Amino acid sequence: MTNLLQDTAQRAIRYLAALDDRGVAPSVEAVAALGALDTSLPDRPTDPAEVLDLLDTYGSPATTANTGGRYYGFVTGGVLPAALAASWMSSTWDQNGLGYTNSPVAVVLEEIALRWLVDLLGLPSGCGGAFVTGATMANFTALAAARHAVLKRTGWDVEADGLFGAPPITVLIGEEAHPTLTKSLGLLGLGRNRVVKVPVDDQGRMRVDALPDIAGPTIICTQAGNVNTGAIDPICELSDRSDNSGTWVHVDGAFGLWAQAAPQRRYLTAGIEKADSWATDAHKWLNVTYDCGLAFVKDPAALRAAMSISAVYLPQTTRREPLHYTPEASRRARGIEIWATLRSLGRTGVADLIEDDCRMATRFAEKLQQAGFEIVNEVMLNQVLVSFGTPGHTLAVIKRIQEDGTCWCGSTVWQGRTAMRISVSSWTTTEEDVDRSVEAMIRCEGIERG
Ligand SMILES: *Cc1c(COP(=O)(O)O)cnc(C)c1O
Repeated sequence: MTNLLQDTAQRAIRYLAALDDRGVAPSVEAVAALGALDTSLPDRPTDPAEVLDLLDTYGSPATTANTGGRYYGFVTGGVLPAALAASWMSSTWDQNGLGYTNSPVAVVLEEIALRWLVDLLGLPSGCGGAFVTGATMANFTALAAARHAVLKRTGWDVEADGLFGAPPITVLIGEEAHPTLTKSLGLLGLGRNRVVKVPVDDQGRMRVDALPDIAGPTIICTQAGNVNTGAIDPICELSDRSDNSGTWVHVDGAFGLWAQAAPQRRYLTAGIEKADSWATDAHKWLNVTYDCGLAFVKDPAALRAAMSISAVYLPQTTRREPLHYTPEASRRARGIEIWATLRSLGRTGVADLIEDDCRMATRFAEKLQQAGFEIVNEVMLNQVLVSFGTPGHTLAVIKRIQEDGTCWCGSTVWQGRTAMRISVSSWTTTEEDVDRSVEAMIRCEGIERG
């Protein structure tokens, strides 16, 4: 075991050291070579050292270098040193995050991390929380609490009796809501299409003046951080407008909620604490290992009511037992990496991470604009949309940039306009990374123009 783990550490260190000198996307050859791993199931055991060698030889080159500083695809964080080290330790411990009886360390670290996060993100103290796989499940978890609460006020017990025959719930979402939010609504029986779509402005923000009159059990799903523009809904005004006891305001803040942790960006999310629940990711902007998402609910009792189970063999303690707050029972002890990351960065470290990425996004926008390209969005957070001209030309340039390997960006269509999407979400992205990437973009565009 010792040799194997030392070998693993060496290989991991070598992988990280080589990141800066390789193409960001894996080469076509490296992906094709994965075929070497596709054998029939071996009849007999193989030495784990040999298995590791196979993984490193064929797996490492076929990875996307998204832990480096020049991956700007989707909204993807890298992994911070403390998070990676804690993840190694945590895998070694192999703790089950389900409860205190089977893992005191998992639960105690999760409780501390939850308290720190609520503080850092400026949420109401005493919030309930759940550590889940990502923002999709965080939305699901928080909206399950919402569904419970709005129906309970009408005297309906949705966990016991389901939705058949229940009073109808009005669900409002923005026209630019994330597709995973809609999926969560579908999973909860609230319907992907059975929603009222609220018109948005040119950045994708819900328009307060377009909010319909609200009556009866209602859930308003707002968004902090549009995946294209980074825009944040006017959550404070929406909460004020919907201020009646039948309404629950939820925030999908997968990455935008982190503006709360950076004093210079907090104006974007002002009043966000007036909502009833918040979903976010830690594997995006907090740069912890996959997978890690977080659901926060102002009234922990609503979350507990939606998620709690009972069985005679389960411990009956007075503690906050995580399994009563999450969709899962057994699960990865995600609080460990979060605790280590926050302990390592501190308040100012997180603020700098967020602010620096926002500054890098602005640098991208300025340099690309100087080069004559159009920036399609208002750059207020970490997202930049670039048009190189016609849709066909823009797509061809993006393809060339991806193949060039200096950096990686994806494409999108924003309100009818084809654009390249740059998302700066990694702790490692430096000014030099931005400048190298911009040079590559200009070069690729030049070649494509002919
Ligand atoms: C990324 C994202 C999600 C989904 O997050 P996962 O971690 O992939 O589940 C949901 N909403 C928004 C706004 C996002 O940016």
